[in-house]
Amino acid sequence: MPSFAAGVVRFQNDVYPEKKELFEKLSKGQSPEALFITCSDSRIETAMITQTDPGELFICRNAGNIVPPHVTFTGGMTASIEFAVAALRVPHIVICGHTECGAMKGAMNPEGLDSLPHVKEWLSYSKAAVDVVDELAPDADEDERMKMLLEQNVILQIQHLKTHPSVARRLAKGDLKIHGWVYDIKTGGVSAYDEDENTFVSVETRYAEEVAKAVGKHNCAA
Ligand SMILES: [Zn+2]
Repeated sequence: MPSFAAGVVRFQNDVYPEKKELFEKLSKGQSPEALFITCSDSRIETAMITQTDPGELFICRNAGNIVPPHVTFTGGMTASIEFAVAALRVPHIVICGHTECGAMKGAMNPEGLDSLPHVKEWLSYSKAAVDVVDELAPDADEDERMKMLLEQNVILQIQHLKTHPSVARRLAKGDLKIHGWVYDIKTGGVSAYDEDENTFVSVETRYAEEVAKAVGKHNCAA
């Protein structure tokens, strides 16, 4: 038996009873605050990082947190984006990359991926980000180039996201916000893209106003 099967039993006995009301409420529908697109990497725990409950994030995960540009054939990402944006009408979309990303290492060195043809082809959706890094920092060391690639890949996938008609429509209406994040597995840090400054800053800085409000609310409740 895999160890996580015993986890299900523990969930049913210990965790579920404490949140029974929440689960009963969720059985009637969902109204998530964000479509959260991140990498499949096992080290990313979205609920833990964002301290959210079930029902708060509509999550799409794939190798490299990639959003293929809109095309006329159907794919899992395209359908999920359309559903979240046009049907659930999420007010936010987050694309969240992360440090130590195997997919981005592959994108940087695609010649090592010959035995993984699907991975190789999938990562071609990040090729433009690799090219931007080559252009901006041809002589930088490997660590610096990888840090840049994680950020440039998030920026590129935001551009791809905007080609999806459901997203373009909501952006035109002005009731959808797109966020680009990079999560640091080792430190727990999360940086967020500041579009105006074209740079990544800490979440505390990027969302200073919202964080202050949330802390105020938390203190009032306590
Ligand atoms: Zn990854």
